[in-house]
Amino acid sequence: MALHRVATETTDDVFTAPLAERPLPKTRIPDGPTDPKVVYDLLRAELLLDGNSAQNLATFCTTYNGDEVKRLMADALDKNMVDKDEYPQTAEIERRCVRILADLWNAPGGPDTMGCSTTGSSEAAMLGGLALKWRWRKAREAAGRPAGTPNLVCGPVQVCWEKFARYFDVELRQIPLEPGATGIRPHQLAQYVDENTIGVVAILGVTFTCDYEPVAEIAGALDAIQADTGLDVPIHVDAASGGFVAPFVRPDLVWDFRLERVASINASGHKYGLAPLTCGWAVWRSADLLPEELIFHVDYLGGEMPTFALNFSRPGGEVIAQYFNLLRLGREGYRRVQQSCMDTAQYLAGRLRDMKVFELLYDGSSALPAVCYTLDGDPGYTLYDITEQLRTRGWQVPSYPLPAGRSSTVVQRVLIRHGISRDEISLLADDIEAVLSKLRAGGGRGGPQEPSFHH
Ligand SMILES: *Cc1c(COP(=O)(O)O)cnc(C)c1O
Repeated sequence: MALHRVATETTDDVFTAPLAERPLPKTRIPDGPTDPKVVYDLLRAELLLDGNSAQNLATFCTTYNGDEVKRLMADALDKNMVDKDEYPQTAEIERRCVRILADLWNAPGGPDTMGCSTTGSSEAAMLGGLALKWRWRKAREAAGRPAGTPNLVCGPVQVCWEKFARYFDVELRQIPLEPGATGIRPHQLAQYVDENTIGVVAILGVTFTCDYEPVAEIAGALDAIQADTGLDVPIHVDAASGGFVAPFVRPDLVWDFRLERVASINASGHKYGLAPLTCGWAVWRSADLLPEELIFHVDYLGGEMPTFALNFSRPGGEVIAQYFNLLRLGREGYRRVQQSCMDTAQYLAGRLRDMKVFELLYDGSSALPAVCYTLDGDPGYTLYDITEQLRTRGWQVPSYPLPAGRSSTVVQRVLIRHGISRDEISLLADDIEAVLSKLRAGGGRGGPQEPSFHH
């Protein structure tokens, strides 16, 4: 009898199928096929080891998707975002989302707005950064000045900007945090900006502290620098998280295209935009800010298509799901979702304050729905101990040092997003209290358990 015969047989029980009776092949493709139901159940069982994403309080990314989103994602499985000729309606939906976001971020251009979907804020940041670099170089050429090494000025940025700088040969001038600061302070800029500065990145929702950098004040400082030196330095706002929060819960906060100096904005649809992974957005204030040389026109998919992206083929479902969420929730729906997350973050901040051992760096009231805190003094255990203990209950609550300038301060961060309920957070707070009693009794003094990882 053939050894690999299961393909055409009905399997009585998944766990008595040949594939299930030894460890799964890990280095070589198996010789023959197996019943898909067997493989599905075995893989599903293995993936349970990944943990429960609802308890992952380290990520900004969407972990809750409704049934309609799941259905639309399945419906769109074969749609390729890049193939705008074959899937013109998917392409049209992308354009609608760009226009809606440009409007939400107060772009002056109306339908003239330029933007695109990406795989996330990282790709959007690369595109935004490239446009800045190209415009800077053209301006230097036009002025008959030599182009030196371009630099990008920023505060404590997410790793995507470090990647941009290294991949595209730009010097990253990261301004260290001042004592007590949660991001750039505008008065620091004058020391860092010069004729080779391609732009300043301002962050709406700093990865490390969850606070907003003061974009309007940063623009004001750059106005003053221009008045003094003639340097006209554009701002790119990295609104990965805040781009889908601020317009709904703080509509009066001026951080977007209302500021003339803001040339481009990126946001992660798959964070507070509530779309599934992988969805990001890049939007320019007006079409002329995106150099034509960066756009490629391809004709081998039928029709002529402009493309500005780091990748080529990618799924269309995320963009469709983004449009679904925009239609389904509307402005008021997003406001309610984000406000309820803000309220839950502030509830957690209150519970943490009552525990009397933490100092809050950010309490969830003015920027992202999140809290960031450190230990007040030395109670004989560390935040790393708390992280480790919480993990035994399935909670992922990261501890990490702040970036340059405040790197001796270790903080812990909890992100509240759609799908994380008040009840869940009350259970987390109970667990933190239980961990604290345990640590008080038994001590502990751990360091980082593994490389810290920020989204
Ligand atoms: C998450 C994040 C990024 C990277 O975004 P992805 O969508 O994960 O690629 C960039 N900047 C900030 C501020 C972020 O929070």
